[in-house]
Amino acid sequence: MARSVMKSDAQQMKEYNRALVLRLIQQEGPVSRTALAKMTGLSPTTVSVIIDALLAEGLVRECGSSPLATTGAGRRPILLEIRPEAGFLLAVDLGVTNTTVVLYDLASNARARRTAPTPKGQDAGANIQLIVRFIHECLEEAGVSLRQVAGVGLGVPGLVDSERGVSRYSHNLGFRNVPFKEVLERQLGVPVFVENVIRMTTLAEKWLGAGKDVSDLICIGIGSGLGAGIVVGSQLYRGPWQGAGEIGHTVVLPGGPLCRCGNRGCLEAVVAGRGIVARTMARLEAGAPSSLRELPSEALKELSAKVIAEHAGQGDKLCREIFWETGVYLGLGIANMINLFDIPYVILGGGVAQAGELLFRPVIETVRSHVYSVDPDQVQIVPRQLGSEASLLGAALLVSMETVFKLPGAASF
Ligand SMILES: [Zn+2]
Repeated sequence: MARSVMKSDAQQMKEYNRALVLRLIQQEGPVSRTALAKMTGLSPTTVSVIIDALLAEGLVRECGSSPLATTGAGRRPILLEIRPEAGFLLAVDLGVTNTTVVLYDLASNARARRTAPTPKGQDAGANIQLIVRFIHECLEEAGVSLRQVAGVGLGVPGLVDSERGVSRYSHNLGFRNVPFKEVLERQLGVPVFVENVIRMTTLAEKWLGAGKDVSDLICIGIGSGLGAGIVVGSQLYRGPWQGAGEIGHTVVLPGGPLCRCGNRGCLEAVVAGRGIVARTMARLEAGAPSSLRELPSEALKELSAKVIAEHAGQGDKLCREIFWETGVYLGLGIANMINLFDIPYVILGGGVAQAGELLFRPVIETVRSHVYSVDPDQVQIVPRQLGSEASLLGAALLVSMETVFKLPGAASF
């Protein structure tokens, strides 16, 4: 770097401290100046100078006083929080079934939303068109201009190269090497961040949901597919080829059912939605008694994991066995991940996990009896807290952490 454009150490330190204070207000706010000084180790005067600048820029606002007086004088410290309108974030969930775009403010409040069935076809042109249209509609509805938007976060299923912003491969949507980042940045003129959808969900649960109090976790999504996000030391672990967490394509039944990836016996082919239905249908065809037989033949053709869970909940023996078996296979996969990563905290969610205890009980039992590296009592398998909104919130969070709240010099979020 040429000397003339090099920033002095003091300047770099100033920028870092400002970013650190801003990020702490976002994570811990409402928070007082005194608490910020304690958390950062900066002097109260330095914190005050930074806060004055952030207030002047409109990034932060005062929001009343703390109920606790901290000094003998009884003066209550003024609390600070991020000003929600100081910036906006666009989150896109390009799901297998639906495409959703949400405009969030900096405090994660949804300001506008659009959703529609995902266009099908190998060429992602129609998908990009829909996303761009929804973005403009959301902005118009909320009276926000693109200049106020820090960036777009796009969640896509399948393998994603998040550094280049390319959907490498999605067998669900038929994408191969779609350069979403490049195309969308050209059309919108704002930074675009592309990530695998389960990793977006993982980020949201880590920072806003069930993983708030832990620094290492595994977040599993089981629905029409099966995937995992891994957080190590509060950072997303993506792997050198960006493919970490593909638990769905670990083989549990050699020569087993054909998976959408082309292999046989992948965990996803056994336990995700279609696998559950296929195992149930095979048992019905073999003559197993079940209340499912009372369904009209049309409904049986459209059988889903949700319906099987409903019948299991009403006490149907076959459906209960299918869910128990599903939990055992999934539990084995999760125990393998715990043994590999030494992380006993697992968040489990997605459509199939809506079955609740039917799935969680066999999963927990199986995991506890198959972990090796950690104490079985340490194992915690907990449900998601953020529901179906998680991947969108995660997409917005990723954008904010990579732009407004980025720590200079720190590794990518
Ligand atoms: Zn597979």
